[in-house]
Amino acid sequence: MPPERLTAVHAPMPQFPVQDGELMVGNERLTLLAARVGHTPFYAYDRALVRTRVAALRSVLPPGIQLHYAMKANPLPALVGLMARLVDGIDVASAGELKVALDAGANPAEVSFAGPGKRDAELRQAVASRVLVNIESFREVAALEAISNELGLPARVAVRVNPDFELKGSGMKMGGGPKQFGVDVEQVPALLARIGHAGLAFEGFHLFAGSQNLRAESICEAQQKSYALAVRLAQDAPQPVRFLNLGGGFGIPYFPGEQRLDLAPIGDNLARLAQQAQVELPQAALVIELGRYLVGEAGVYVARIVDRKTSRGQVYLVTDGGLHQHLAASGNFGQVVRKNYPVTIGNRADSLHTEIASVVGPLCTPLDLLADRMALPVAQIGDLAVVFQSGAYGASASPQGFLGHPACVEVLV
Ligand SMILES: *Cc1c(COP(=O)(O)O)cnc(C)c1O
Repeated sequence: MPPERLTAVHAPMPQFPVQDGELMVGNERLTLLAARVGHTPFYAYDRALVRTRVAALRSVLPPGIQLHYAMKANPLPALVGLMARLVDGIDVASAGELKVALDAGANPAEVSFAGPGKRDAELRQAVASRVLVNIESFREVAALEAISNELGLPARVAVRVNPDFELKGSGMKMGGGPKQFGVDVEQVPALLARIGHAGLAFEGFHLFAGSQNLRAESICEAQQKSYALAVRLAQDAPQPVRFLNLGGGFGIPYFPGEQRLDLAPIGDNLARLAQQAQVELPQAALVIELGRYLVGEAGVYVARIVDRKTSRGQVYLVTDGGLHQHLAASGNFGQVVRKNYPVTIGNRADSLHTEIASVVGPLCTPLDLLADRMALPVAQIGDLAVVFQSGAYGASASPQGFLGHPACVEVLV
């Protein structure tokens, strides 16, 4: 085994302190929180941690850079309500998310709507709501023209560009090469002409190159290229650029060996771009849009151990939660090679009495695995298994109907 495999450990999770052996979530002992929720499994999102994360990020961002929350990371209405007060805008990806954002009190002027395959009915709702629509095809221009005429309200639009580069080292690439997202940069001048003829209210550009990146230099490079591309495309725009969304892609450490992203170079890079923009795109607000980076580390998934068994020497902790509620931790949400999320036994979090155990769920499939042969505190039936880094792409990104178990509960604490 290469030495890095032996030394690779999960990044520490100091955001949840341990008191008297118990993890503290939302300033409460985990067992008491479980009693308050009244049901396992559950997700808990710690609002103080979300606030701290946003404040820490803002402290390294230059003034003037706007911070948006991409709510597909976690659409819990209470959390979206909190985010709407903390950030400068909410990015939605369906009419369903649009409703949650508006219900939560988001200002429509600060909401943008992206996503391929927006249905006409969704576009109509977006125009009537006066939110910004990120156009991703020529068909959407035609549909928005008709809707604008019908409603007597010109659609506010930006162009989502599929760039000719990608975000290097991303967990998920969403730009560069052939993609279903956005319009290829080569076709954008023609699209801008169509937008001008259609009389839509053009506001700017949206670029999103990729997701879950832990390398600051790759993120800076993508931001620089996105900015340069927008300056070039602005020459063909029907109106001055007022909005430039440079994307996001900031990752969080999930797997052994991964370390937290270094924000300082990203802040410096954005400061330089903001300075350039004052000259080259003087009316433009620069925006970054983040999902998991803002909320992912603030959440835990908690499942109760309902059985403990040993099979040919291997210990299995069988819980009431699993793949159906936390697809990502099971390794089935886009991962190529399954790796363990950070996991602990939340009511024995500082126990030095450990063993190698696997944490599984109640589903009849070997894919239902929350931890594969991890060193964990020795656990008993009734204990609480905790999966860290669960504030994003958890409940809403899991097939909860699979096998007919009860739905999980989500709380903002
Ligand atoms: C998914 C998505 C995001 C959020 O990605 P994170 O990795 O959660 O930060 C942002 N913008 C767009 C366009 C997306 O599709």
